[in-house]
Amino acid sequence: MRLQNKFSFNFFEGVTFARMQILDGKKTAQAIKEELKLNVAQRSVEGKKVPHLAAILVGNNGASETYIAAKVKACEESGFRSTLERMDSDTSEAKLIDVIQQLNTDPDIDGILVQLPLPSQINEENIINAIDPDKDVDGFHPVNVGRMVLGQPAFIPATPYGIMLLLKHYKIETAGKHAVVIGRSNIVGRPMSILLSDNKNPGNCTVTLCHSKTTNLKELCLQADIIVAALGKPEFLKADMVKEGAIVVDVGITRVKDDTKKSGFKLKGDVAFDEVAPKCNFITPVPGGVGPMTIAALLKNTFNSCIQKN
Ligand code: NAP
Repeated sequence: MRLQNKFSFNFFEGVTFARMQILDGKKTAQAIKEELKLNVAQRSVEGKKVPHLAAILVGNNGASETYIAAKVKACEESGFRSTLERMDSDTSEAKLIDVIQQLNTDPDIDGILVQLPLPSQINEENIINAIDPDKDVDGFHPVNVGRMVLGQPAFIPATPYGIMLLLKHYKIETAGKHAVVIGRSNIVGRPMSILLSDNKNPGNCTVTLCHSKTTNLKELCLQADIIVAALGKPEFLKADMVKEGAIVVDVGITRVKDDTKKSGFKLKGDVAFDEVAPKCNFITPVPGGVGPMTIAALLKNTFNSCIQKN
């Protein structure tokens, strides 16, 4: 059954195919942004500071340009202030750290994000470590990672945080479920596995974290009630790896050449959506699933940073 060929994603909204329901990240993110907009407007009326996000883009990588533009646009939509610092692709690590330190000490800035990946002359770890943990709205600084692992208040990395918000929005029961996370990156898979295993709601899953050296991935996936696919391999997760009634979250975004598109590419997730969707209870589409939720989560982190400081 080729769902995507028959129906557009808009048509999916709230539609149930047998048991399957789309987890609509676009609509959920919109609701979060509207709530934030109301809160920001209220702060403004009360003469309080509005959130201000500073984003740094080094070089002109096409995908990074798209992501940063979406983040700046989302800030505007929610009434946040935003500043975009553009730096040349041959910028030195010292120069970038200098800009970060100025933003660290600027009382008007609530959140700092440095768009990754960075050019090869710059060490990403040194850059993440240079950001003030209390302005680290991407949640990548070791202090925030440590706080998250210990269950303390922390900035949670935006993609896993966005997924948790999506599960919460759809009131997905996660307690006692077996979750398989495919991919162990510091920004998606590893924090996802920690959040799903937390003694919280959503959470309380029994989590299996898989990676490229996992030998029995298909077997593990077939046991999973929840699968989070975050490996960056288009349409990797096939129907024969998913049990009936599973909940599937597709984090992958890969640009695949497509001459029929004006851009010359289309976005593909890590899940073979057409064949996997009919087996699921819930599934996220690509685009319109985890991507918009990542941006909504970033805004929530920035808003929280603002109210904590002011
Ligand atoms: P990453 O740093 O490249 O990590 C990929 C992970 O997948 C690694 O842990 C790797 O294992 C594992 N892996 C690779 N091939 C595998 C296989 N055949 N079987 C099992 N595991 C395998 O990627 P990432 O930054 O986490 O991003 C993953 C995907 O999510 C990408 O498509 C990215 O564009 C997308 N993404 C989307 C959003 C969003 O907002 N929607 C945000 C961030 C990322 P090893 O550790 O053993 O190498």
